[in-house]
Amino acid sequence: MEEVGRVIFWNVGGGARWISYALMVVTFIALIYGLKKRYAMWKIGKASPINFTERLGERIGYFITNGIFHKSILREAYPGWMHFFIFWGFLILTIGTALVAIQDDFTKLIFGVEFIKGDFYLIFSFLTDLGGLLAIIGILMAMWRRYITKPARLDNKPDDLIVLVWILVVLVTGFLTEAARLAADPKPYEVWSFVGWFLAPMFPSAEKGVTYMPHAVMWYFHMLISFGLLAYIAYSRLLHIITSSFNMMFRGVEDSPRGAIVPIEDFENAEEFGVNSIDGFTWKQIFDLDACTRCGRCQDLCPAFATEKPLSPKQFIQDLKTEWERIGAGGEKNEDGIIDTVIKEETLWSCTACLACQVNCPVSIPTFDKNIEMRRYLTLTLSKTTSETRLLFKNLQQKSDPYGMGKRQRTEWTEGLEVKKAAEEEVEYLYWVGCVASLDDRNRKVAKAFTKILTEAGVSFGILGQDEACCGDPARRCGNEELYLGIAQGNVELLNEMGIKKIITTCPHCYHTLKNEYPQLGGNFEVYHQADFISKLINEGKLKINPTVEGTITFHDPCYLGRVNGVFDEARNVVDKVKQGNFVEMGRNHDRSFCCGGGGGRIWMEEHHGRINHKRIEEAIDISANTVVTACPYCLIMMEDAIKDKEKTETMKALDLSEVVVKGI
Ligand code: SF4
Ligand code: SF4
Repeated sequence: MEEVGRVIFWNVGGGARWISYALMVVTFIALIYGLKKRYAMWKIGKASPINFTERLGERIGYFITNGIFHKSILREAYPGWMHFFIFWGFLILTIGTALVAIQDDFTKLIFGVEFIKGDFYLIFSFLTDLGGLLAIIGILMAMWRRYITKPARLDNKPDDLIVLVWILVVLVTGFLTEAARLAADPKPYEVWSFVGWFLAPMFPSAEKGVTYMPHAVMWYFHMLISFGLLAYIAYSRLLHIITSSFNMMFRGVEDSPRGAIVPIEDFENAEEFGVNSIDGFTWKQIFDLDACTRCGRCQDLCPAFATEKPLSPKQFIQDLKTEWERIGAGGEKNEDGIIDTVIKEETLWSCTACLACQVNCPVSIPTFDKNIEMRRYLTLTLSKTTSETRLLFKNLQQKSDPYGMGKRQRTEWTEGLEVKKAAEEEVEYLYWVGCVASLDDRNRKVAKAFTKILTEAGVSFGILGQDEACCGDPARRCGNEELYLGIAQGNVELLNEMGIKKIITTCPHCYHTLKNEYPQLGGNFEVYHQADFISKLINEGKLKINPTVEGTITFHDPCYLGRVNGVFDEARNVVDKVKQGNFVEMGRNHDRSFCCGGGGGRIWMEEHHGRINHKRIEEAIDISANTVVTACPYCLIMMEDAIKDKEKTETMKALDLSEVVVKGI
């Protein structure tokens, strides 16, 4: 009985093996040459603190989950499955080809052992056909999307078309080669190669003993273009197979707390601050540019882009990449640098530092880390900022708060309340009030409400009072690292001198800075945001709340609470306790939540384009929300302004988490 299997290099002549070896060598030379050139281009950047071998297991795990099994890519169904089919189709085909090579060039050659036979051959035939079919479906989905439905976030370059057509031709010729073989040499068990079997009737049957030309021609053509495609990886968008995979491992496992700005190295002795040339970025930041697949997901989620500001994170990355490719290929550096020639100043100031782009990028590319370097250059090296940021810096410098109101007014909100001073009495927690809750009339109500909650729950707490200064977040995110350091170092010294160990704050920006950025200056504290702290008090039975909020209630995730610090459920747990009506999520929530527009220093700047808070409140209107709960002073101001502007004050109000809690105690 004939053994189930097939002859490798069937019908193509004895020289085919040597021709394919020769082509393989040429292909690998071309591939390695291209990658080597690319490597040299990545290295024009400065050294990066990222140590790839640290947490290697975690990095590989992240890649397996998100790269191999597509967890992050599948967050969007159509492009996710499209990519999944192409990726897994090719993975199966690559494994299949590798097995054939292992058998033919190793086990059979050296030990005379063939393992692709019998039942294994049948499964092998079925899976490789399935892989090819999946890849074709994925490619057709990509073509349909790119050239028929054309989502606005995609742009088309000739390389996109070349790659898609090339891959499709490789896959189709692979099946036609198989079909021609099955037409010439039909065996009943070959039905397992179900695609080739289906196509085989297209070909005439073969004359015994004569080279079957349709198959031989197809075989050589398929081999040629397959090797060509492999070499093309290093010179086309296909390079993302390598760069995006590594980027997931570099960036997916974050080396510093998410959103923590990297300090300026050797600040005291630096002659220039920030970046105004491509080679001023680290090699890793440059690698980010090369890993971008132009998928446009970041653009779809960017609040600045959605409100017609001159910023698209995708374009931002692509503009820097084009400049890097020009410089990397030996182009002259522009004497004026990249600010205003490649990236406009207005683009830099349009960003709210919300990190929606970075967190939702399937290959983990940050944009704000590059923006902040250019903001630093403008602010510190050129002393060139907007009039609003100049005023902000002046207020922070002279009065230690962004409003310029001064220390005396910082404690006005405590009038009529019994609030201890942490410097005068021993307390377990420091309530870090923050500038906005201390000085903005609307947010002072939040400080009062939170104080009542802490008192009700019997928490031992005190405030710094007039000793409290801004945490430094607005200065740092506007690029003024010098001012930030002055403020933050003073705060850290004071807190350390006072022996403060535990801090609670109502502001996510203070929370993030104290928790994730003060450790850079030797300030290591146990920091809570009101959302997780109140949730903890409820869970420990220290705080009982009666549900009082009627109607439809929703929660707006502040960026630096949710997306950046992962506090999602705690806030919802609290909202769940206060609601008497129903809780409904807005269309965008959790880490895809839409910014209020106030972060990254934007709250201190004039708005010259569409208003982000209007867009956000439209989402609350869409779900007929009566109460929009948030847990951030910036968000509260922004949401309340938007409700007024949209003339919805009769049916909708914005409240802070503490305000809805205090109603029920
Ligand atoms: S930065 Fe990320 S999300 Fe944005 S286009 Fe590039 S790969 Fe896509
Ligand atoms: S951080 Fe936010 S505002 Fe800035 S580019 Fe990214 S998505 Fe847009």
